Amino acid sequence: MDVALRVGFAANVAHHQSVLRDCLSACEQGVRELGVQLRVVGRTYDAIAEAGLLQGYDGLHKYPYGRDGGLMRLVAEVVGLGPDRTLDGVIYLIDPVDPSSIFPEALALKRQCVIHGKPFVSTMAGLRDWLEMERVTRGLAPDAQVDDLHQFEAQTLALIAHDALKPQMLAFVERNFALLSRFGQRVGTGTTGQQLNELARRLGWQGPGDWIQRFQSGPLGGDAQIADLVLQGRCQRVIFFEDPHVARQHEADIQLLERAVTTRTRSVVCTTSPPVAQRWCDAAQARARARGASH
Ligand code: PGA
Repeated sequence: MDVALRVGFAANVAHHQSVLRDCLSACEQGVRELGVQLRVVGRTYDAIAEAGLLQGYDGLHKYPYGRDGGLMRLVAEVVGLGPDRTLDGVIYLIDPVDPSSIFPEALALKRQCVIHGKPFVSTMAGLRDWLEMERVTRGLAPDAQVDDLHQFEAQTLALIAHDALKPQMLAFVERNFALLSRFGQRVGTGTTGQQLNELARRLGWQGPGDWIQRFQSGPLGGDAQIADLVLQGRCQRVIFFEDPHVARQHEADIQLLERAVTTRTRSVVCTTSPPVAQRWCDAAQARARARGASH
């Protein structure tokens, strides 16, 4: 068995009841199977204990309350502080109208996950999907209860890359073209979409229509247009290769898209860096093969 995953965990207060309960009930078996070590910020830990979730599980570790720096500690551990204090990823179940979701430590948490290529899971659907992918990566049999998140033919996928990451987006799409082509529809911001359509033609895409539907370019509002699809329940996955090293004049639009995702916590999954996206594709393919074989 691989070394157990170490993951930071926090949830905004509005999610302390139904979302936390539903999410952890759905994920409890997987958490136990993988022995995931959860480092849980104070109030979220208290809510888990009060709800009687993960009872007797020794992988649950209480971190300080938010006001005492619990989230800040997770940021430092995403960066890494030696073998015992280095996280493999973070689950932060965001309520977009909770002001603490845009405190500097919350933004830094996501940014450091992006920089270090670690998962930043902001929704309940994202947590169920991530856990299943880690299970499958370790050779465990797929959980049929996650099938709803893998009906790609019925889903719309958004693909967006900032300029410095466009070459990585092209390489990612080329490598995973068959899987990404299974989605019912793909949407993207203007320039990313244009480059991907050119790539798809080179790869022999014959339609119907363009491989990806283009919206405005990011700086002209494409992120906001895609956010609207998410809000309407018409886009279920966002793969967004963000460049964490440059200041952008349309930062607000990018935040808007990510916050739109969290309004649909039960149904939308957002992935924000190339290594995390590739790990997902590999696991999704392995899962599809294993599900096919078991039918
Ligand atoms: P672009 O937009 O694909 O039009 O470059 C991406 C972004 O900057 O959000």
